[in-house]
Amino acid sequence: MPVTFPENPPTPKQFWCELAWVGGEIKTKVLIEVAAGRISSVTCGVKPRPQDAEKLTGLTIPGLANVHSHAFHRALRGRTQVESGTFWTWRERMYAAAAHLDPDSYRELATAVFAEMALAGVTAVGEFHYLHHSPKGGLYQDPNAMGHALTQAAQAAGIRITLLDTCYLAGGFDTELNDVQRRFSDGDAARWADRVEALRKAYAGSDMVRVGAAVHSVRAVPVDQLPPVVAFAAENEMPLHVHLSEQRAENDACLARHHKTPTELLHAVGALGPRTTAVHATHLSQMDIDLLGTSATAVCMCPTTERDLADGIGPAHAAHLAGSPVNLGSDSHAMIDLFEEARAVELDERLRTERRGHWLASELLQAATESGHASLGWPAAGRLEAGALADFTTIALDTVRLAGVQPAHAAESVIFAATAADVRHVVVAGRFTVRDHQHALVSDVPGRLAASIGAIFK
Ligand SMILES: [Zn+2]
Repeated sequence: MPVTFPENPPTPKQFWCELAWVGGEIKTKVLIEVAAGRISSVTCGVKPRPQDAEKLTGLTIPGLANVHSHAFHRALRGRTQVESGTFWTWRERMYAAAAHLDPDSYRELATAVFAEMALAGVTAVGEFHYLHHSPKGGLYQDPNAMGHALTQAAQAAGIRITLLDTCYLAGGFDTELNDVQRRFSDGDAARWADRVEALRKAYAGSDMVRVGAAVHSVRAVPVDQLPPVVAFAAENEMPLHVHLSEQRAENDACLARHHKTPTELLHAVGALGPRTTAVHATHLSQMDIDLLGTSATAVCMCPTTERDLADGIGPAHAAHLAGSPVNLGSDSHAMIDLFEEARAVELDERLRTERRGHWLASELLQAATESGHASLGWPAAGRLEAGALADFTTIALDTVRLAGVQPAHAAESVIFAATAADVRHVVVAGRFTVRDHQHALVSDVPGRLAASIGAIFK
């Protein structure tokens, strides 16, 4: 599967940033030189602007990593807000949308969704992918047709993707798959690994695509099937992601079945560690937090989804203090705005504790950039420094929301007041994916979203 970056307007070799977030500090007049998709040098205080350097007006930060995405959930936006209900009634709506997707329609929808992400400053997405097979559960001619549709979509939208191919085998503890879930399953972990091995080979050496592993949840993968998934991820040094304790009902069912919390169960099968990311981690015991922290397992918070689904507030700060790197995802895409995800981590904590100032703006920026990329298997991204991937995002500071920002407080202003609409430029591998608020590769992103979502519900 050849994956190359689509051709684009001529690539500048130098970018001159009015302000940039370098090494955790705001610097002025920063010259970023790029060669072969990587940053070759970063020099602060360069004036005047070199004649050939592209001027980036605003605050330039490393590209944002959206660590947890289910692209097709974007089709549900608004449609699930018309009635009360629970996570479980929302899931019925989500399954109804899933039943309509095939490789062509999913490629169309995901291209538009990833383009929306790019417009919001995202340069890498972690796509937690379990919509593997045909609606009745049969294999497509290429059993990875749906996965390839997602990588092609990211390529068309000009962002990097880590395809987190998800093992999903059961409808719950000792529960068969239902009719919709059948297409998620490979039957057992060995067949899941065979299919993912073909994907891994297809993208070996790709500059734009990583293949990672995922366990949907301890509900959806029986305990005897967890070790083969963990071993496959370890052998191939892949990221391993897992939904963890999003719902109290999952904890209760896991304790009843295994006399362990989901975190304790994952620990028992060797699934925790620095390549692993626990997504949500909402309802944790102190023992769970300690197990995640001491193993350096990352925690992905998705606060706009967690509040939309009335999941609860996860102990992000306690996890951070215990040793877990924290990162961010827009998950169900109730909205796609990583600034909103970042500030919600702090603001939710304020509501819970009635105290301010748990997280520094610089720590939240790091969660949205460097920590997120590390979780997705892109350790060379997420920093503005020589040798890093040339992925960066410029936030306009002259919009109605941010006008009047003092350079010294630019990081705090962006984290606590910027929106996705303030993203002016996005550069991936040294090329513009978004320029002056316009997507450089996908014209009419709203039109593409409307058409592809309309096709699902027609
Ligand atoms: Zn999820």
